[in-house]
Amino acid sequence: MPASISEIVEYCDQYLAVKQFKDYCPNGLQVAGKQQIQKIVTGVTACQALLDKAVAQNADLILVHHGYFWRGEQQQITGIKGQRIKTLLVNDVNLLAYHLPLDAHAEVGNNVQLAKLMNWKINAGMDGDVGEAIVLLGETQTAMSAKQLENDLSEKLNRQPLHIAGHDRDIKKIAWCTGAAQSYIEQVAAIGVDAFISGEISEQTVHLARELGIDYFAAGHHATESYGVQALGEHLAEKFGVEHLFIDVQNPV
Ligand SMILES: [Zn+2]
Repeated sequence: MPASISEIVEYCDQYLAVKQFKDYCPNGLQVAGKQQIQKIVTGVTACQALLDKAVAQNADLILVHHGYFWRGEQQQITGIKGQRIKTLLVNDVNLLAYHLPLDAHAEVGNNVQLAKLMNWKINAGMDGDVGEAIVLLGETQTAMSAKQLENDLSEKLNRQPLHIAGHDRDIKKIAWCTGAAQSYIEQVAAIGVDAFISGEISEQTVHLARELGIDYFAAGHHATESYGVQALGEHLAEKFGVEHLFIDVQNPV
């Protein structure tokens, strides 16, 4: 049984509480296509490769974490942006995107899904309740060396993290935020955790970690944000009785 796009969008907007977030892009339906949805393809980023693969799979709806229309980007629909949007319009495919609401959600959020995958205990949100907070606080199941945590991340995420040591104690209390959240390192260190795990790293983060005395793990932006959108896709497939397929367009960053 197909579901209507308006039903799905309305449900997602509410389930993900999009109105509660101030974001850098519009959350919800970004490009409108056909009315009836039978197949949802999910992916991390609405790049051309994802669109092409989704079209080849006869997707009616593409659901992503990184969509379009970011604050400050060029407004014209030309070049790469023009080609991407043309692919959607020509094939009558809907593009649905959720950014911060999909990082923070208490069930399908990237941060909660990463904790589930890593078997971390969630204690609280740093800057609000779980479900609203962008950074989560918690614990590893047992105290472990930095090397152990590094191996754990590498095994579960299929990608070698970059570890910057800030101390040589074992790790137990942790904070994490998927994606590009290295700039939270000072706030996180002030709380007194042993390690902070995020996706990306910049040059200055190395010095900050060392001088703040906190271990930092850059576990991959793409790698840490691959799970929220899949969980949401599964949730929608169950809720609306539609097909769901996650397509992983590999990205080492
Ligand atoms: Zn991201």
